[in-house]
This record gives sequence, C-alpha cells and structure tokens, in this order.
Amino acid sequence: MEITGPWTRAAAAAGLLRDGVARPTVFARSSARAAELGALNLGQGFPDDQPPPPVAEAAIAAIRAGRNQYPPGTGEPVLREAIAAHQAQWYGLGVDPAREVLVTTGATEALAATVLALVAPGEEVITLEPFYDEYAAVIALAGGVHRTVPLSIGLDATTGDLVMDVDAADLRAAFSERTRMVLVNTPHNPTGLMLGAEALQVIVDEAVRHDALIVTDEVYEHLTFGPAHRPIATLPGAQDRTVSISSAGKTFSVTGWKIGWLTARPELVTAITGVKQWLTYSSGAPFQPAVAVGLRMPASTFHDLAADLRARRDLLTDGLREIGFRVSVPAAGYFTVADASPFGETDAEALADRLPEEAGVVGIPLSAFYREGHAGEAGSYLRLAFCKSRSTIEQALERLEAWAAPRR
Ligand code: PMP
Repeated sequence: MEITGPWTRAAAAAGLLRDGVARPTVFARSSARAAELGALNLGQGFPDDQPPPPVAEAAIAAIRAGRNQYPPGTGEPVLREAIAAHQAQWYGLGVDPAREVLVTTGATEALAATVLALVAPGEEVITLEPFYDEYAAVIALAGGVHRTVPLSIGLDATTGDLVMDVDAADLRAAFSERTRMVLVNTPHNPTGLMLGAEALQVIVDEAVRHDALIVTDEVYEHLTFGPAHRPIATLPGAQDRTVSISSAGKTFSVTGWKIGWLTARPELVTAITGVKQWLTYSSGAPFQPAVAVGLRMPASTFHDLAADLRARRDLLTDGLREIGFRVSVPAAGYFTVADASPFGETDAEALADRLPEEAGVVGIPLSAFYREGHAGEAGSYLRLAFCKSRSTIEQALERLEAWAAPRR
C-alpha cells in the first residue's frame, strides 16, 4: 500500500520529507545533537529563563481550581479579552474580543491555519528571505507558490558590524496580480531586523493595490532593544486586510505552553477558525488564564524583561566580536547573526555540522532559513541565541575563543 496523500506529496515536493519520513526541523536536530555531545546549545530559540512569577502562579492556581478540560474552541473569554485590551493599550488598535480574536496552539498553529484557510493552490505568498522555516512548509501544504524578497546583509561602515536591510523597490516588485498574501515577520527571525516605516508602508500600499491579505508574525513584539515595535495593522487602511499573529512563548519565556493568538476582522477569523478547529480544536486550558494575567502586567515589567535580554545580547555580541567574528547587533528578538568568514569558513551548513564537536557549541546555519537550493546565499553565517543564561553565554564564548585562537 502506498502511504501518502496530497499533503505528504506537497511536503515531499517542498523537500520536507526525506525517504518518506518527516524530516525533523533543523532546530530539533541541533538540540538533539547538543544533548548527545553535551555541547552548549545556542541553536534552538528557547530561553533559560523562568516565566514571570505571577504568570507561573496563575497557571498553577488554574490547574488546582480545576481548569483542566477543553477550553472553548476560540479561546477562554478571559484571554480573548486580555488580548483585545493588550492591542488597545500598546498599539491603540480596536479589536472585538468576541469576534476578532482567536486563541491558537502557539503562533505555529495560527500561521498554519491562516495560510491553509486563505491561500488556494497556485496563489502566491510573499515572505522575506531568510524566513522562519514554517512559512515554506505551510505554503507548500496549501499548494501556494512561495515568493521571496531578499534581505541584504552588509557591513556598517563605522562599526564593521553586520547590518540587514530590505530594499523597498524589491518589496514592491514582488507583488503582482497573483499575490494572495504577504506574510511579514517583524521583528524578524533569524536576523532581529525591525522593518522601517518605508518598508511597512510599501507593504500596505501594494497589498491594497493588489487586494492582497497581510499576515504578520509578531512573536518578538515585546523583545525590542531600542524603538518600540509598530504593528502593520496600525497603518491607515491596513487593519481590515491584516491577520496579526503573536504568542506568549517569547514574551513570557513559556515556549512549551504553546499559547498563541491572532486578531483580524470577523470574516477572516471565521474562515481561519474553520481550519483551526480541525487541527487541535483547543488546547492549554490552565495556561490561557495565566497568559491573560501576563498580558495585563504593567508596561514596566515588559520593559524590564527586554532590558535583561538586551544585556545578554550585548554580552554575546561583544564577546563574539572580540573573538573575531563579524556580528549583527539586532534591534529585537533572541538571535545574533555571526559571520565566520574571518576564520576562513565559507559554508554555514558545514560549519554548523562541525562546530558541536570542534568547539562544543551548537548554532543554526542561516541556510536553514532559505529556500531549498538557496543555501549558498547564507554565506558562512550562523544564528546564535542569546536568550540563554549568562553563564551559558560566557562558557560558549570561552569555547569559541579556544576554537578560534589557532584559526586567526
Ligand atoms: N514565528 C517565529 C518568527 C518564531 O520564531 C516562532 C518560534 N520559534 C514561531 C513563529 C512559533 O511560535 P510558537 O512557539 O508560539 O508556536
């Protein structure tokens, strides 16, 4: 018997299956490698931090209070209300908690359900490249056509650090009558880039001109180290055609809780719910009220969490620069991009394969965030996570120094 179906065929065509087996993501593979070798894991983006105590306590209290059965399919009202209040308080966005919010199993499910609900076979979805790997997978599952806009990686003339940017003309040129959706990730994984006002405006203008949907992945919205995040939905004319997606995982250091959400106009929420309810129906009963507590914490708590992460960004990027890597100093998120070409490295994938054994440190090759066949554009760049403890970062720097010394 042939064990396959339309989705496995689509997944195989997109390179997501190998020998008929679902290929573990690069993050799962690198974490397994780190565990096997006892290497320090600066690969997968999960933090060493504990959630803010009121958030953790609220989850424990919810379990004890018996909130352990199926929550409503669209999410617990207390969380939907907290999400709407959060959008109003932080961004001035008006969202109806009853009809314009959907709670999901992480941003992962929100993204999958959105693309599966709204993209028909043959329709184009635009993303930046590099991109979070799920995008290629779900676009393929929907039978959509993935179109990418390249991020440039250059050098800052004064600091010598890596700087990423996107060209407004490239963005504009990606749109056509075939465009169904533009999926925008800002702050951006893997680079930490926050799209500027001009790029955001081009996206909205072109989406309006081509009657395309805008989907935003804003999971790093609160982990910013300079200017605040500005959701695309706040731009004039954008909110009616935008699905805004976020999640609790990064903001509250609870990536294993898998509580995400989206906000959009009722017609869009209804269409997406039609897919989401057959994926998981609902999940995370006791975590939903806990995330509601988190979203209502004072702004100063969010700022303190970001400031703490910023200090670890500086620890890692300053240390890597001293060792001789070229680095990016990201404006947001969990990751820096480090260029190993000063050590004669030319291939990120080969380096990421060797580094756990050679240095006892795990990183993710930037090639993991490019389309199949485009790994060459990832140069010798590694994505390294700084959402780890100070001692993990310090030890990783010592090991990388020992690795680098004979190669300088
Ligand atoms: N989008 C981006 C850009 C991410 O980095 C991640 C997590 N690595 C997700 C979505 C998935 O979020 P969640 O864990 O809430 O499913």
